[in-house]
Amino acid sequence: MLVLHMILWLNAFISYHTETVMSTTQFSSESRGQYKAKAYAAASAKSPLAPTTIPRRDPGEHDVQIEILFCGICHSDLHQVRNEWSGIPTVYPCVPGHEIVGRVTKVGSAVTKFKPGDLAAVGCLVDSDGNCHECQAGLEQFCPHMTLTYNSPDVHLGGVTYGGYSDSIVVKEHFVLGVPSNLNIAGVAPLLCAGITTYSPMRHWGVTKGKKVGVVGLGGLGHMAVKFAHALGSHVVVFTTSPNKKEDALRLGADDVVISRNTDQMSKHVDSFDFILDAVSAEHDINAYIQLLRRDGNITLVGAPDKPHDVSALSLLFKRRSLSGSLIGGIAETQEMLDFCGKHNITADVEVIPIQKVNEAYERLSSADVKYRFSIDMASLKSQ
Ligand code: NAP
Ligand code: ZN
Repeated sequence: MLVLHMILWLNAFISYHTETVMSTTQFSSESRGQYKAKAYAAASAKSPLAPTTIPRRDPGEHDVQIEILFCGICHSDLHQVRNEWSGIPTVYPCVPGHEIVGRVTKVGSAVTKFKPGDLAAVGCLVDSDGNCHECQAGLEQFCPHMTLTYNSPDVHLGGVTYGGYSDSIVVKEHFVLGVPSNLNIAGVAPLLCAGITTYSPMRHWGVTKGKKVGVVGLGGLGHMAVKFAHALGSHVVVFTTSPNKKEDALRLGADDVVISRNTDQMSKHVDSFDFILDAVSAEHDINAYIQLLRRDGNITLVGAPDKPHDVSALSLLFKRRSLSGSLIGGIAETQEMLDFCGKHNITADVEVIPIQKVNEAYERLSSADVKYRFSIDMASLKSQ
């Protein structure tokens, strides 16, 4: 049923965009120019990422042009590049990257919040219809007509949108975020996806002081979740399959660490959690976590393996537990999260790499070997 729903939604999404692309492409190409940007793209699910050039539109009156300084590597980039999501087929060439931070180089005449020289950031969304209930509620991520930063139909230039593994990007002002000036920008980039994806469900489910919160999977999302849950004052327990991450988990703010393959350690926490955030990128047993929730506890999935989970109805209904999902966050909440990070001095723990190491980074990401997010220094693309 869920899969059916997703396919219907995708069909509606694709046909809306195809119609819009067809009706606006001619207009756009006549009325607006474009320029070439340097980028890294995958030509197929099996190809490594390689240097290329891509078209970017010249900024229009509501647009902000950004020189990209850093771009984080999200596991979603890997899923998409390798075409691992059956519901969201990849269009090649694919330029991934939705954790973007950079400096404004040009703004359109109607832009009011940014000027050249400002730091600015872009996450997973670059457009939405602005009129629907979701947009009106500040939940652009659920707009039926939203445009993702990459692999979404591009209404301006045709084809699909291209992401942040590039030296520049042009984005409508509403989707550009302000960056607190006190933070290290290499570590800010991952906040634009890993940050908001973990912050948003914690706010939604009322993570506060005195709550017991579990974080499953200490990767890019998971380590941000630990930082936020700790900053919000809750008691944080990390569940990891990697015993060698224990010390890091404690340093990041966890109060306790459970090796999830150890059933004795798991059973000590039965019926005790108010909230668990599951940020695992691969197939795993979520029932093992559902039974750790107390009455009315919630487990939210943000990890997105393609294969459906098996869920035990009985363990949900006996304690009125709930299971839900969460998708990134709206634009206003993303700005709120960035401001929260500015106030609490929170950034991602990053391994900064040149873009030439991106394929090596993907291999390490697929074996859960990152501490805890790769951030690409885009200056390395200049020499390409
Ligand atoms: P990541 O850095 O690769 O972290 C994933 C973590 O999952 C790993 O570090 C590992 O943690 C754990 N893990 C990996 N394989 C596992 C397995 N077979 N069994 C159990 N645990 C395993 O990935 P990420 O960038 O944080 O992304 C995580 C997931 O969230 C991806 O599926 C991504 O597509 C999705 N995502 C969703 C949204 C959204 O809006 N909902 C946004 C961004 C990303 P341990 O070593 O600690 O076990
Ligand atoms: Zn992401």
